Amino acid sequence: MIDPVSTGSVSDRIWDQVPIGIVVLDAECRVQHWNGWLAQKTAIGEKDAQGKTLSELFPNFRSPRLQWAVEQAITHLSPQVLSQALNQFVIPIHTRFSGRHGTSMMQQHVHVAPLTGRDGRIQAVVSIMDVTESITRSSALIEVAQKLQHDSNRDALTGLYNRRFMWEWLVQQLKLCNRHAHPLGCLLLDIDHFKMINDTYGHDEGDQVLRSFAQVAQDRLRDSDILVRYGGEEFAALLPHCSPQDAIDAAQAILQTVRKAAFGALPAGKVTCSIGVSWWTVGHPVTGEELLKCADKRLYEAKQGGRDRVVPGALSTV
Ligand code: GH3
Ligand code: MG
Ligand code: MG
Repeated sequence: MIDPVSTGSVSDRIWDQVPIGIVVLDAECRVQHWNGWLAQKTAIGEKDAQGKTLSELFPNFRSPRLQWAVEQAITHLSPQVLSQALNQFVIPIHTRFSGRHGTSMMQQHVHVAPLTGRDGRIQAVVSIMDVTESITRSSALIEVAQKLQHDSNRDALTGLYNRRFMWEWLVQQLKLCNRHAHPLGCLLLDIDHFKMINDTYGHDEGDQVLRSFAQVAQDRLRDSDILVRYGGEEFAALLPHCSPQDAIDAAQAILQTVRKAAFGALPAGKVTCSIGVSWWTVGHPVTGEELLKCADKRLYEAKQGGRDRVVPGALSTV
């Protein structure tokens, strides 16, 4: 501990009691002064630090940014700030404040400024502030914000995107379609006789069917496509850079896979779906609402036609 009533000048005592680290380095990065805060945090006393370089004091540690900043301060009299975001820390100090990800090194905000020594030579005074706590808190806040953002875009049961996200995504995507003249496919999928599945196997099993259906459909799509839980047992898939024929083929592939798949307690063949397919092309530029409305109309036709089928069609024939 630092003795608060130690002898020495007032400035000496201030030097040792400020709650920041201060080290004065010469042009070779040798320690000229080392304050009480640093002595306490590193367990290296001022006498032991005196005359040593930082790499001698911390053998396996290099801080090229600090070396550069010291050089700038001494050679060009140019003060430097090394923010935590870029540099994390310039002196390795273990800290007891540990974040959820186990941050055990003190995060530091560092200021390096030129200082004329008693002998007239320019040195660099490096002040080090411990910002571990605020950094850990702000990364925890960022994490919470990201989780909230993720949750607000997702359906809780299936983990798929929700309708709210889909409309935001579609507005942006149709702008790109317009600009680059690339087509976009739209599939509206609805599980057939789902009410009967619920009634026969129970609501929990019904939930499981919804989760598995989402997985089966997702597996047949590309990473750049998005699959959305559009309603109860209704899903929408939007396929950028996809021609009408490719959209129809993708719908057929999902239909066949669903037919052949077992869903929990339900054997293969028990679950089928109907799919309406629409598209945006340069020849048929439509709004997002029109795109979904058209797919919905085709889905209705698929149900009317006997279910377990794909019905495609462009807007002009709605
Ligand atoms: P169709 O072939 O015409 O689509 O008939 P359907 O029975 O699938 O359609 P209907 O609209 O009559 O019934 C849909 C059912 O989906 C009714 C509703 O209770 C059920 N459902 C909606 N959301 C959920 C959910 O999250 N979990 C479960 N288990 N069932 C749901
Ligand atoms: Mg249905
Ligand atoms: Mg439905």
